[in-house]
Amino acid sequence: MNIRFDGKRALVTGAGKGIGRDVVKKLVECGAETIALSRTQSDLDSLKQECPSIIPVLCDLADSESISTALKDCGPIDLLVNNAAIAICESFFDAKRADFDKTFDINVKATIVVSQIVAKGMIERKAGGSIVNVSSQASLRGLKNHLIYAASKAAVDSVTRTMSLELGPHNIRTNAVNPTVTNTAMAKVGWSDPVKVKAMTSLIPLGRFAEVSEVVSVILFLLSDFSSMVSGSCVPIDGGCVASLGT
Ligand code: NAP
Repeated sequence: MNIRFDGKRALVTGAGKGIGRDVVKKLVECGAETIALSRTQSDLDSLKQECPSIIPVLCDLADSESISTALKDCGPIDLLVNNAAIAICESFFDAKRADFDKTFDINVKATIVVSQIVAKGMIERKAGGSIVNVSSQASLRGLKNHLIYAASKAAVDSVTRTMSLELGPHNIRTNAVNPTVTNTAMAKVGWSDPVKVKAMTSLIPLGRFAEVSEVVSVILFLLSDFSSMVSGSCVPIDGGCVASLGT
């Protein structure tokens, strides 16, 4: 499959590190003019050095008021990846209201606000488009010490389905990807303990965590016309984990 995005403009949130950073690099490789939004200037600077054609946008998505200002000069966007998220690992009894608010502001509300801005432009231009929300396997199965994060990703799945319903008539497809643990900085938050890693990988029929490239390739497929009849789907990238009972 030779995916090309020549003549398309893409926006990736959380582009400074991990999955988002590699999505940006792949989009550039595939010919898309790519806007990279993140909240740490040094990450955007180093990404710009690697991919000089990107348009860096510094924005903290926790502040929903600043999102429209940050995106006001970004012009038309055909492809959107809502990737930015935080993971605060807490058990049911430890979960704090402030952490709930912080997590939902970034993982859920910003996904909605950014998508509203971008989809409005797509509809005005009658151009259609494709949106991918980066969710998690944690939305689909119970996961100890991930109460707030998992709930935020379940909300992302739900938002994805409603977006696909309301945006579909405008030829805008919306899908989510639900990766298992993927080797990035975020994964270190909850998955540094080898005992936990072993317990988790034993639930994955393929017996391992995901590589960033394995998540990026599914995102690119969902953005592309190769998935032109796929919308409203939440696609596990999990080596078979959510499909099995683990016995
Ligand atoms: P990561 O390595 O922590 O990178 C996240 C990126 O998002 C960073 O550049 C971060 O910037 C940015 N970001 C976070 N909060 C932001 C905010 N308020 N405003 C703007 N940018 C913000 O994470 P990752 O592992 O690549 O995760 C990417 C996506 O995959 C997330 O949606 C995550 O939930 C999902 N996911 C990850 C895994 C995993 O195991 N890694 C598994 C399933 C799903 P700063 O570093 O400057 O804060």
